[in-house]
Amino acid sequence: LMQLSVPLNFIGFIYREIRQGLTDIEQMFDLLDVPQEISDRPGAPDLVPGQGAIRFEDVRFSYDASRPILKGISFEVPPGKTVAIVGPSGAGKSTISRLLFRFYDIQEGRITIDGQDVRHVTQKSLRAAIGMVPQDTVLFNDTIAYNIRYGRVDATDEDVRKAADLAQISGFIGQLPDGYKAMVGERGLKLSGGEKQRVAIARTILKAPPILILDEATSALDTHTEQEIQSALDLVSQGRTTLVIAHRLSTVIGADEIIVLKEGLIAERGTHRALLDAGGLYAAMWDRQREATEAEERLRRARETD
Ligand code: ATP
Repeated sequence: LMQLSVPLNFIGFIYREIRQGLTDIEQMFDLLDVPQEISDRPGAPDLVPGQGAIRFEDVRFSYDASRPILKGISFEVPPGKTVAIVGPSGAGKSTISRLLFRFYDIQEGRITIDGQDVRHVTQKSLRAAIGMVPQDTVLFNDTIAYNIRYGRVDATDEDVRKAADLAQISGFIGQLPDGYKAMVGERGLKLSGGEKQRVAIARTILKAPPILILDEATSALDTHTEQEIQSALDLVSQGRTTLVIAHRLSTVIGADEIIVLKEGLIAERGTHRALLDAGGLYAAMWDRQREATEAEERLRRARETD
């Protein structure tokens, strides 16, 4: 019996160790606040996209319980309209776009698309309804045509070309020796930030989602590229419900409403004109940005004359 009890004790010891280990892992996840895997409710229906109305109703959210990021945010993007979110770095602008995609669940409030709570529909259908032009587009190590077609894999060559035209990147592609067959990415051609963004716009044109999120680039593009991108973005957002996450202020002027986030709350809201007239936070941000842009321009001109 003694002979048996030793290995049994040992098994007990191992069992306790493993149990403890699992508990520690659970606690570690709690501490780190690693997002619990977001999953579909059993039997969740697909989102039935209508005209693409977005609503945030008193949304409260924190990644980690000790630091609330959104403290009660309500706004609406009516079908086909454009709303821009601006605010200081870290204010929670990108968080709003992640919540619309339901990468995280909110603690309080409700986020709906065409009246359907994003928590109640399948994630696949939710993500299919939203197109995103991100700050930094990941390109595959494949042809430029492949990279554009990624927006809708069954698109014809003609569709791909049309999308590239609308995204104002067909001129650039035309100059490449292999045209649409040119390899891009790691082993091929490196595209600039502006070119990558136009590939992303072409993808989104192919996907043709009712809702669009534009995550405006943080880094400064030169004025000419910025104008080209702006006109491509204007085209793709026409008639689509669009949420602009503006890290800079260049894309917000034409928005139907601008929402100024500060410390998790909406500090100001209105059109560009109204907010400038109000002379508050937005007006101050605008002045600062204009000064910075002017300084950049002066620097660039000085370099050019050198
Ligand atoms: P920026 O203009 O600098 O990109 P932002 O307004 O888009 O800023 P968010 O990315 O929404 O800011 O981040 C809001 C806050 O939430 C920041 O303080 C950030 O550190 C924090 N945060 C972002 N992602 C996470 C995460 N996954 N876990 C914990 N905290 C996060």
